[in-house]
Parts: sequence; C-alpha cells; structure tokens
Amino acid sequence: MDCIFCKIIKGELPSFKVYEDRHTLAFLDIVPVNYGHTLVIPKKHYSNMEEIPEKELKEVIVTVKMVGKALKEGLGVEGYNVGENNDPVAGQIIAHLHFHVIPRSAGDGLALWPQGKYGDGEAEEALDKIKKAI
Ligand code: 5GP
Ligand code: ZN
Repeated sequence: MDCIFCKIIKGELPSFKVYEDRHTLAFLDIVPVNYGHTLVIPKKHYSNMEEIPEKELKEVIVTVKMVGKALKEGLGVEGYNVGENNDPVAGQIIAHLHFHVIPRSAGDGLALWPQGKYGDGEAEEALDKIKKAI
C-alpha cells in the first residue's frame, strides 16, 4: 500500500518524532497550522474512525492527551485544538487515520468554523435520524 504515514512508521520516510509507543506514533506536521502542530496516528493502517477497533482508538486518544499536555507545558501555549478529518469530504487527504493536535495562543488568528441555525423541527428530525443509527 502506498501510504505516506505507513512509510513514516517503517522509517522509509523521515519525520520529526515527538513520541512513540507500541501502538501509536506522534510526529510534527510538515506543514504546520501553528508552531508545534503534531499528528497522532495508530501504527496499524486504518483509513478512518469506522475501521479502527475501539481498543486501538483508545490508545491513540491517550497519546493525543499526552501530546496536548506536552504542547502546553513545552511550548507554553494556553490550549490546543484536536481535529480529525474523517473521509475525503471532510478534508481528509492522507487516508491513514490521524488526529491533529494544534497549539493555540490568544490572538493567533485562527478562526473556528462558521455556525448555522436549525429551522422549525430540524433539530428533532436530526436527533431522530442519528439516534436510530446509534
Ligand atoms: P488531513 O487533511 O489528511 O487531515 O491532513 C494531513 C496532514 O498531513 C496535513 O496537515 C499535512 O500537512 C500532513 N502531511 C502530509 N504529508 C506529510 C509528510 O510527508 N510528513 C508529515 N510530517 N506531514 C505530512
Ligand atoms: Zn498507512
């Protein structure tokens, strides 16, 4: 499989490794949104959240938490965003599940998503559809 992140795991491509354990790897995003922007991935290839088993997802999230703490303490930032673009339509370019951990500081200029409004009955309708699928 021609996956850039699998190649990084195997050491076939270089990366700036922040943290590594048996199941997960954290490394600097090569095109950072902010200084210290880190990606956290499972070592096994899964393309998205539907594919990864819960047990392995938990390992990844624990590493996300550890990295977030290290960004705050190590870089002296006040917070961070955690993001996962799930599927190409959501902006996922690399088809190996990954979490972005993006350091945030007051006045860094990053804008959050625009928000909308529910029309009459739409929230109830959305709730009904989602709950039926859970
Ligand atoms: P996505 O849009 O799939 O959620 O994000 C993929 C991320 O991977 C992007 O932020 C991009 O900068 C990063 N990226 C792409 N290629 C490489 C690479 O070869 N090395 C590293 N470290 N990051 C990469
Ligand atoms: Zn992969």
